[in-house]
Amino acid sequence: MSLVGAGPGAVDLLTIRGQRLLAQADVVVYDDLANAELLDFCPDEARRIYVGKRGGRRSLPQEQITQILVSEALKGLHVVRLKGGDPLVFGRGGEEIAVLAEAGIAYEIVPGVTAAVAAGASIGVPLTHREHASSVVFVTGHECAGKGPEQEGVNWPALAASGATLCIYMGVRRLAEIVGKLIDGGAQGTTPVAIVANATLRSQELYTTTLAEAAQFAEQLKGKPSLIIVGQVVRLAGSGTSHWESVISQVPVAL
Ligand code: SAH
Repeated sequence: MSLVGAGPGAVDLLTIRGQRLLAQADVVVYDDLANAELLDFCPDEARRIYVGKRGGRRSLPQEQITQILVSEALKGLHVVRLKGGDPLVFGRGGEEIAVLAEAGIAYEIVPGVTAAVAAGASIGVPLTHREHASSVVFVTGHECAGKGPEQEGVNWPALAASGATLCIYMGVRRLAEIVGKLIDGGAQGTTPVAIVANATLRSQELYTTTLAEAAQFAEQLKGKPSLIIVGQVVRLAGSGTSHWESVISQVPVAL
């Protein structure tokens, strides 16, 4: 059994180890964020089980997903759980491995390029910089109510005061609220923001804006996985490593 990070989207951002494990899979369990083209690395006869979900749309409940992993693995099959980005960054990988451990199933975890890192690279924004940001925070903009420490919520004012580069996952739907909390916490409305949708895919879009203006983009970002980068480092945005610059739509503002 292995949990494999699929990377952010572009097929060639999968790790070589991930590719090798896919090539050995009897069963692959995947969802929306993993690029479906990655399934081409699996043997033709491998069973492909889609358990997708995105942006609040219905999907298989998490318990059923873990149930599939356990029952397939107990058959002695090589199961690959393919998860977008890194399996242990906002991917519920922690819940899946807890169930596997309880069932006595051995597993291997293969890291993947997480969306924040991919988004930064694709637009040439260094998430840390000796002069501008000595820390970086990966934070969820979507707190699921009623569960564990997330119930207490993210301490946005503390993040505003930290001066860290903020990489906000799943933040589009609550962007206006998040911006309000950051500004209440002392962040300047002029703080630069980059929003990268579909990072590393041909459909990648980039919006550069400021904290005060950012929420106006929420509507057009609906349904597109988007990473929001907040911090002075956004000013340094260059061309990055994206070779699809021509398709990047940029909404420029004076930063
Ligand atoms: N495990 C994943 C994160 C899953 S949470 C990882 O490590 O990247 C889903 C969120 O990830 C999305 O709402 C979005 O904020 C972000 N995301 C995933 N893929 C992305 C992409 N290609 N471009 C921009 N954001 C992405």
